[in-house]
Amino acid sequence: MRSLSNVFNLLAVGLTIAFLAIYVAHSSIVSSTDTALERSSRYDVAWVGAAGRMEVLSLQKLLAKFMITSDQADASQVKLFAAILANRFSVFQSHSYQAFLDRKPKRRVLIDAARQTFERILPDLNNIEELSGRQLELVQQDLEKVFAGIDRIGAEAQTDSVNQVAQIRSELKKKQDLQKWVASGLFGFIALLLAIAAIQNLFLRKANRKAVGSAEGFSYLAHHDSLTGLPNRMAFNTRFASALARCAEPHKGSIAVLAIDLDGFKAVNDRLGHATGDALLKQVAERMSATCATFANSIITARIGGDEFAVVLDAAEGIDAVLEQADELRGVLSAPYEIDGVALVVGASVGVAVSVAERNPDKLLIDADIALTQAKASGKDRILLFDPAMHDIFLRTALIQAELAGAIENDKIKPHYQIKVDVATGRVTGAEVLARWNHPTLGPVSPAEFTQIAEQSGLIVPMGRKILEKACRDALHFPQDMGIAVNLSVVQFVRGDLVQTVREVLETTGFPAHRLTLEVTESLMISESDRAVEILTQIQEMGISIALDDFGTGYSALSYLRQFDWDELKIDRAFVMELETDDRAGAIVGSIVSMAHMLGIQVTAEGAETYEQIEILRDAGCNTIQGYHFGRPVPVSDLPGTILHAVAATARLSNSSALAKNAVA
Ligand code: C2E
Ligand code: CA
Ligand code: CA
Repeated sequence: MRSLSNVFNLLAVGLTIAFLAIYVAHSSIVSSTDTALERSSRYDVAWVGAAGRMEVLSLQKLLAKFMITSDQADASQVKLFAAILANRFSVFQSHSYQAFLDRKPKRRVLIDAARQTFERILPDLNNIEELSGRQLELVQQDLEKVFAGIDRIGAEAQTDSVNQVAQIRSELKKKQDLQKWVASGLFGFIALLLAIAAIQNLFLRKANRKAVGSAEGFSYLAHHDSLTGLPNRMAFNTRFASALARCAEPHKGSIAVLAIDLDGFKAVNDRLGHATGDALLKQVAERMSATCATFANSIITARIGGDEFAVVLDAAEGIDAVLEQADELRGVLSAPYEIDGVALVVGASVGVAVSVAERNPDKLLIDADIALTQAKASGKDRILLFDPAMHDIFLRTALIQAELAGAIENDKIKPHYQIKVDVATGRVTGAEVLARWNHPTLGPVSPAEFTQIAEQSGLIVPMGRKILEKACRDALHFPQDMGIAVNLSVVQFVRGDLVQTVREVLETTGFPAHRLTLEVTESLMISESDRAVEILTQIQEMGISIALDDFGTGYSALSYLRQFDWDELKIDRAFVMELETDDRAGAIVGSIVSMAHMLGIQVTAEGAETYEQIEILRDAGCNTIQGYHFGRPVPVSDLPGTILHAVAATARLSNSSALAKNAVA
């Protein structure tokens, strides 16, 4: 386009120069034509010649008449015409006539002869009344000679003049032709210039249309998410701001923000690839747009992050109506997807915030986000309405996030120990290491809270190493037959070199591998199955025991039992809690235990708080039991006291007279 416009510009400049040149040429032609015309008009030789002829002829006629009449009046006429002719001879002296005479030498001879003759007879002509008949005849003859000369030259003058005029005419004709060509050329050029201007204009208009088109395109791109075509964060912010401005006016109702996040989207991306992730997002966006299009109160639906979406609704119908719509949306998004023939199920968590008079509406999106975070933390695939109390939770989480790294670095997170008791012998066989953080302002922070945050930031890797190392050093002072069990997070398998870490810790602390158990949950088997089995095998080969933790929560697929050669299975507290109220719980525990035993796996029950629970667990065949009944997690300094307490507790078990004897002192 640019080069084309350059060509046009060059053409226009060239044509303008040509135009000027033509104009100059044209002007010079016009002026030379003027000169020629002037020349032709000034050329009076023929006229002078012809007049001379007429005048001589008239003089001859008058003389002849006088010769007949001898009348005084005729004599006067003769004298008058003689004077006219004399004057004519002086006219013959004019520059142009002289030039004509000079062109042929004979002409001058003729005219000079005529003039001499005339000058000779002029006195007679002026004195005509005095002349005799014979003298008059002689004057008449001389006048005849004068006539002959003037007539001859007059005729030549006429011919010469005609030729000259013809020449000037032909010159004029040529110039006129040239002028015509030049004029046509000029018009042609003007037409060409106009045509070029028109074409350029056309191109300019086209370019302009294109520019307008691209500007619109750019604006579309700037305001829409390229993957899903939904309005993006920028568009959302703009429309959200105007919706907020509207609801800030008194009695203008309220608006609701739905912050939506897909559950398990990261896993889809990681395991099935980004192309599948993108296809999923597109389908999610389509479902979302289609559903929101059915809401009469929908203001904007936008994609504001990777798998984060936001919907703004007019909340004039009240909070319940908005929650119903949010639930409808969640339901639509949670229905199975099909991508390249593969069925996918992802949930959607929704945080809802509705503008209320007493709360700054600017914070609405943040509030919805806080509610969303809470919804995710409390089990996913659910809707949570923002409550100002959540804000405190949010601030607490933010504080933990901000201070966690420092706490790990400065050993503020310390291992506590919860003993495990062998129900057959009453011996304390080991202790589970549970991290504790006593925050200076927040008080005790649950590991369930900070390990999750540590997992998100990756801090779980250095934290896990520190806990393991500290526990191994502590346990060197425990009774020789007591082991320790350390919890591992999935993130430690994914990030960081776990095998190397464990090896280094054992080497530096000198703690024997056979006294160490590492606990992992089934989530590891779901997300990182192959890699996990490989790493676990390497760790197990070092002599370390591996326990499958929290069995009975989540999927608890029995297939996990076959995937790896587990040393221990830990039945979750949720099962244990139901033992006394639900007979089926006991039956399930019984079958889990027998299945585990068939596979050569030891079973530990967690969270046993009562004597009855312990009896049922023991009868169901559990090997070891852990729970508040025997001892709470305590700092290393309190461990001996807890062990003593556990011994006392085992003594109370029915048929336990033998147990007490075997219990570890
Ligand atoms: P977990 O591995 O299931 O740990 C057992 C949890 O049950 C502990 O909670 C323990 O205090 C609690 N518990 C034990 N017996 C009873 C009982 O009789 N009644 C009740 N109500 N609770 C009982 P805690 O210490 O809050 O730990 C929570 C979770 O945090 C742990 O669950 C574990 O998954 C994680 N965690 C703790 N320390 C670490 C760590 O160092 N690394 C990693 N990765 N995770 C850890
Ligand atoms: Ca555990
Ligand atoms: Ca557990």
